[in-house]
Amino acid sequence: MIIGNESIFVMSPNAHTAFGRQGLLFVDVENGAYVKTNDYHSIAFAAAISSVATRAVRCADFGEAHQVELLNQLVDKRLGIVCSPEKVPYSHVFQPFEYIVDDIARWRRNGEQALLRQVAPQLLSELTVYVTGQCSQGCPHCHYLYRQVRCCNKYGNGLMPPSMLDAVLRDARGTALSRVHLVVPPDKLHQYSNDYGAVVAAHGLGFDIWTSWSEEELAPSLGQGDCALNVVVPLMNGGMPQFELNVAVRYHFCVASESELVAAYGYLDRWPEVSITVYPVYNGENEVFISDNMLLTEAEILQQHIGMRGIIRNKRMNANAFGELYMFANGEVRAAPYAENLANVTNITLSEIAYRELLCNDGAWLKTRSSLSGCSSCVYAELCPPPMPIDMMLGLSRRCHVE
Ligand code: SF4
Ligand code: SF4
Repeated sequence: MIIGNESIFVMSPNAHTAFGRQGLLFVDVENGAYVKTNDYHSIAFAAAISSVATRAVRCADFGEAHQVELLNQLVDKRLGIVCSPEKVPYSHVFQPFEYIVDDIARWRRNGEQALLRQVAPQLLSELTVYVTGQCSQGCPHCHYLYRQVRCCNKYGNGLMPPSMLDAVLRDARGTALSRVHLVVPPDKLHQYSNDYGAVVAAHGLGFDIWTSWSEEELAPSLGQGDCALNVVVPLMNGGMPQFELNVAVRYHFCVASESELVAAYGYLDRWPEVSITVYPVYNGENEVFISDNMLLTEAEILQQHIGMRGIIRNKRMNANAFGELYMFANGEVRAAPYAENLANVTNITLSEIAYRELLCNDGAWLKTRSSLSGCSSCVYAELCPPPMPIDMMLGLSRRCHVE
């Protein structure tokens, strides 16, 4: 590469720069190509290129041998190009990124509570309703599963009166709420789906049904049209009795051991036309399985192709939780099923609860990797997936094999 006095180096629009305990990282967030260096003299270069709006530097300002070497590596990996100032090929690098979550971060810093209260209703998009905490079954996973997937549970006791759900949804008019997930136990699947589904539909909202797997035949009519039927299937002891899967149903297989994982792949092979999602879950005693199967390697992190939008999202918010609220049979509401109780809907509206969540210093919506002690100084903090329910349940401050 020949660098003339007038040349500039311009970062690719897909290039992300991060500095952490592992050094300095330049990575293409679309194809995973990267350059990593521990040359701390290059930090000035990285700072210059990341901070200016054009994401460009004059090559003449970075002409020392180690800097030229770094520029060459970046150009080789197509993380940027050297060109004359008049011939920059990237037009969109000059566009500023504006996202509401940036505003929220600023308003929180500046104590602008009125603005946070105003925006909160527009952020609420999904509500999960655990219709009842009453159930006569004795599933061993009951206590653990509902905090990781939308599974029926015995928390909250009692049965939510349909009138309570009706009042909550009436108060939620004017929010951005568009979808309700109704979670019901399998022995009351039809009755509760009809009763509570009618309440939700009367408010013009879309809804789907979630239940736990049982041997009773599922009514195909529940899994059609806009109302999807989701069945959470714990593959206890490696499987479930042989059963005809229904193509109209979405299955969520929860696996807690290697043998269950193998069994899940067996179902995927046997039923390619059926919607099956496989979730590794914590069951109170399988930390080794979780650590063997859920910890990310450096190569996996770099090959995620998350794009610049993903980077910006990961910087400010938790995409696994943002915009959602979970309401239990007794009216308690949380921002995530594993999170602390925020309030009870018998006292305040969902809009007000969303506002409370935005004010929380340790809330679920804004919990990013950088806010965890193990990840805060890591160069991959904005590349890694945001904390998931399983991270929070196990108190994992990081989830990787990375040093
Ligand atoms: S059916 Fe659902 S609520 Fe009942 S014990 Fe099993 S997981 Fe818990
Ligand atoms: S989980 Fe945390 S420590 Fe591990 S690579 Fe990701 S950000 Fe870094």
